[in-house]
Amino acid sequence: MAGHQERQAAETIHLAGKWRTALSGVTREILDPADAEPFALVAEGDERDADAAVAAARRAFDEGAWPHTSVAERAALLHRVADLLVRDREELGLLESRDAGKTVEEGRIDVDCVADAFRYFADLVVAEGAGRVVDAGSPDVHSVVVQEPVGVCALITPWNYPLLQASWKIAPALAAGNTFVVKPSEITPMTTIALVELLVEAGLPDGVANVVTGPGHTVGARLGAHPGVDLVSFTGGLVSGTKVAQAAAAGVKKVALELGGKNPNVVFADACATDDGFDTAVDQALNAAFIHSGQVCSAGSRLIIEASVRERFVAELARRAGRIRLGRGTEKDVECGPLVSAQQRARTEAYVASALAEGAVLRCGGKRPEPSRSRPADGYFYEPTVLDQCHREMKVVREEVFGPVLTVETFRTEDEAVALANDTEYGLAGGVWTADAGRARRVAGRLRHGTVWINDFHPYLPQAEWGGFGKSGIGRELGPSGLAEYREAKHVYQNLAPRAVRWFAG
Ligand code: NAD
Repeated sequence: MAGHQERQAAETIHLAGKWRTALSGVTREILDPADAEPFALVAEGDERDADAAVAAARRAFDEGAWPHTSVAERAALLHRVADLLVRDREELGLLESRDAGKTVEEGRIDVDCVADAFRYFADLVVAEGAGRVVDAGSPDVHSVVVQEPVGVCALITPWNYPLLQASWKIAPALAAGNTFVVKPSEITPMTTIALVELLVEAGLPDGVANVVTGPGHTVGARLGAHPGVDLVSFTGGLVSGTKVAQAAAAGVKKVALELGGKNPNVVFADACATDDGFDTAVDQALNAAFIHSGQVCSAGSRLIIEASVRERFVAELARRAGRIRLGRGTEKDVECGPLVSAQQRARTEAYVASALAEGAVLRCGGKRPEPSRSRPADGYFYEPTVLDQCHREMKVVREEVFGPVLTVETFRTEDEAVALANDTEYGLAGGVWTADAGRARRVAGRLRHGTVWINDFHPYLPQAEWGGFGKSGIGRELGPSGLAEYREAKHVYQNLAPRAVRWFAG
């Protein structure tokens, strides 16, 4: 990319300002999920690389200037990064498409959102300032609570939104004055590497931003347990998130977890009373479930629909799902790309098989599509799938599929709709469709999910907190809470007129 320093292929580990290969010399090919062909080579780091990166971040935090820079200086750097993201929008969007399989347009939108997040945290840290004077009850005391950086942050991210998830951590971590080691998913590391190149170009001092490419069970586990790390911020699945939480607890580290979701999309019949209302609710249910082939933590993968409109709604939804144009994300006119890996497709196939064995009725999809010019036979494609007649005891309704699979459940009363929507161990996000404003607010108030959309699905704002109830995680990203995760409050109490207290007679 324009302005980037030269580095050789497989020099994808960045620490103390230098790009290098893994200490072991091992490399990994990165595959394009549309044809399973390798398109890049990266370093396969291990525990030793993780240790070296933490040491670099530790030095930059303990001895470097970054934690002590003014908020204005840090904000200016974040704005420069946002400018560079805008400059490289096309290249980054394309890279994300090849790496994660999404369409290039989705990749471009991700870059826009990432630039917005950098600008948001730049402005927030300036607006919040560094301290709050508190009234100590005496004119002889000056008491202030200051916000300081946490220290060295380990940032561990998944493969579905690689650039976005890394940025939701990196932008607030830097705004607060921390140093970090980021570990992207081993299968989609490319845009995180590119982002670190942009941070360097924007002028970040050596050692502040470090990246180690490599697997979760080696690099990720080591970062999570490393005594030199002060905070672990993890986005990924429940199983690995639980391991990260256990390692963090053992080391008494701060931990933030953004985990999975099993997100309800509740549709009341009154939302479908007009032709426009019906069309919009079907269109958005389609989008909720199938964007990025359902590989979205907030995917609306459970349609919970009022019985009186179910048949008409599901028939139209299945008709439209069957027409979604699947293909290589870089091809024009393609609406949906492949799944990210053979493993993810096999997992999706297993969930569909289990649902059918448990009595679900297949309304569309349920198989791999025929290969075509834009859909190579070796790509990890899977048809958008609608499973009707589902119920909450089914595995496919309870567990996160993370593929293009929508289940349909039916309700008759508002109470039943709420009970179904809340019957999940997760609690990330959910949607409510109704023409009744009172019902909309009532139901939204009763849903135990971190984000509730009313007559919409999927939008988020950098100013508004993102995160989950229940097993969807601990803590929040974005919004003021997203910055607070990366700060430690310190109370500084200054006595302006010290005198002996004489508690002890002496
Ligand atoms: P994953 O848990 O397999 O991997 C996530 C990251 O953790 C990867 O970088 C991986 O290498 C690393 N990792 C794996 N085991 C580890 C360990 N023991 N210690 C430390 N790190 C380890 O998840 P995934 O399959 O990459 O991503 C999909 C999951 O991410 C889904 O469950 C999805 O819901 C979740 N997700 C959540 C959000 C959110 O905002 N809540 C956003 C995106 C994705």
